[in-house]
Amino acid sequence: MSDIIHLLPDSVANQIAAGEVIQRPASVLKELVENSIDAGATFIQIVIKDAGRTLIQIVDNGKGMSETDARMAFERHATSKIKNADDLFSLRTMGFRGEALASIAAVAQVELRTRRSEDELGVLVEIAGTRVFKQEVVQCDLGTSFQVKNLFFNVPARRRFLKSDNVEKSHIFNEFYRIALVNSNVAFSLFDGDEEIYQLPASNNKVRIENLFGKNAKKKWQQQLLTIETSTNLVSISGYVGKPEFAQKSGSQYFFVNGRYMRHPYFHKAVLLAYNQMIQVSESPNYFIYFEVDPQTIDVNIHPTKTEIKFENEQAIWSILSATIKEALGKFNIVPSIDFDQEGSVDMPTGMSVENVRPPQTNFNPNYNPFGTANYKRPVLDWEELYGDFEKKEAPIESSPTWKPNFDSTVISAISSSKQQQVIENIESRTENFQYKNRYIITGIKSGLLMIDQQRAHTRILFDLFLSQIENSQAVSQQVLFPELLELSADDALFFDQIMPDLHLLGFEFEPIENHSFQVKGVSAHAGTSSVIDLLLDLIDKAKTTAHDPSASLHESIALSLAESSSLKSGQRLTNEEMGDLIDRLFACTNHNFTPDGRKIMTVFNQDELEKRF
Ligand code: ADP
Ligand code: MG
Repeated sequence: MSDIIHLLPDSVANQIAAGEVIQRPASVLKELVENSIDAGATFIQIVIKDAGRTLIQIVDNGKGMSETDARMAFERHATSKIKNADDLFSLRTMGFRGEALASIAAVAQVELRTRRSEDELGVLVEIAGTRVFKQEVVQCDLGTSFQVKNLFFNVPARRRFLKSDNVEKSHIFNEFYRIALVNSNVAFSLFDGDEEIYQLPASNNKVRIENLFGKNAKKKWQQQLLTIETSTNLVSISGYVGKPEFAQKSGSQYFFVNGRYMRHPYFHKAVLLAYNQMIQVSESPNYFIYFEVDPQTIDVNIHPTKTEIKFENEQAIWSILSATIKEALGKFNIVPSIDFDQEGSVDMPTGMSVENVRPPQTNFNPNYNPFGTANYKRPVLDWEELYGDFEKKEAPIESSPTWKPNFDSTVISAISSSKQQQVIENIESRTENFQYKNRYIITGIKSGLLMIDQQRAHTRILFDLFLSQIENSQAVSQQVLFPELLELSADDALFFDQIMPDLHLLGFEFEPIENHSFQVKGVSAHAGTSSVIDLLLDLIDKAKTTAHDPSASLHESIALSLAESSSLKSGQRLTNEEMGDLIDRLFACTNHNFTPDGRKIMTVFNQDELEKRF
């Protein structure tokens, strides 16, 4: 029998390799824009059509390529960025594998035009499925232009694997954010077909954040971002962290190292820990954190599509990061109870000089505290102190007009009469409700004392109501007298599309104005009185989180967000009648013990237990 092993033709090998590098239109965008950055471009224009399926075009004003290089660039393992294995450890470029262009050309129709400043004429290369169709000298602008057409034209299985336009676009925007946020000195424009989505001038990081994520509405980047800055001989950290009150369900969270976006769950924990007790468990802060380290101390030679990066000095950097953020939060009086005793704390140099700075000798310690241990007080103290303070600041003296007992027919009718009877029997005396700290309702039941968290109870009640409204389309809308304007980023507008049908069912009405902005003409009659714009932005945020979790139900998450933002809050004084009403409605719910996201609503102090105390 003859030998059977042979080498695969380039076209096949490249197509297989492409499967690794190019998974969707967003991967093409990432690879091409990174190449433009590596080529020193100061302006990069991006055009996509049909969520990148039919066209992704990247035009830059970088250094361009010679005629030979323009052809070579499409060979596998062809790169100008490293020469030997050692170079891997001093990487300053985004690319280095020489795989991207070969992969893209294997699965799409590519047109490259490029010219260097020293050349009078440029070159055009047309290549598709790894076959070169054309290579000729042409007149063209300085720099490089790539047109990638009909992605996966020759790989139908891949093409079918792509998600809806909205999902693909959202991947594209996310890749774009990751690159634009860490290259603020580069100007970008992004077009979706003819529509201009972003026009970003060269600026600094903070302005870039505002330009990308909007100056308006709830995020108030100007107000919310605190500057962080530290420099040791292990690492320089700079960037911005959001004030705790701006924390969201899914915050904008970005880490970059040496100009490259990265995911780092371990450092993420360091950030969260610095905010310990200042934000709710379900929320996370916004942050944009830029690390600069010696390239020898990180390993970026990971899978091309992965964004995790390994650090040699991970634990020490963890501590420095956590300390830096704690310091920023403390400095701005966000943690008033922290005592700023610097003794025994880690060195926190403020200048750029690194000579005298001693790297912290520390092992991983989740309780690490930069402000000294002796006088350190946790930001949140005991029960009394916490709620005493809370009450002073937040509790209205009068019963607040924003919440009224609401014998809502849709809810009441949902209660079977036998269930109502049972509730009424169990609650011994509804005339003796007692409100503790304007937060808990205490009432007598047969077996002892029942203590109910009023905010959670109301969240459960509203959640059940909203969910049934979505499912049975029976909501009541309330016209808005002065319609507010909802302005969205391109990314958010995609998710807004997804939640719009449910919002209609809940009684919201919108009128599109232009380019991702809407007038809010009607709101759910049961929505809270706080800003409807904030509420909608919250809902979009939620939808984003659910979009990436296939097990989550969008209906439920919308109902929950609306319930959370509309519920009566802790600190609100209730009349006896209001308390009674709330208890009735709570017990009419299918699950009155827990909020939809699993938090305990009530607890019972047993009669026996109570008696033992006397
Ligand atoms: P890598 O970026 O890993 O080197 P690529 O396949 O992405 O590999 O690119 C191959 C080579 O083509 C690069 O090393 C670079 O020399 C050249 N190149 C690609 N895009 C550009 C561009 N926009 N401007 C100038 N040169 C480019
Ligand atoms: Mg590259």
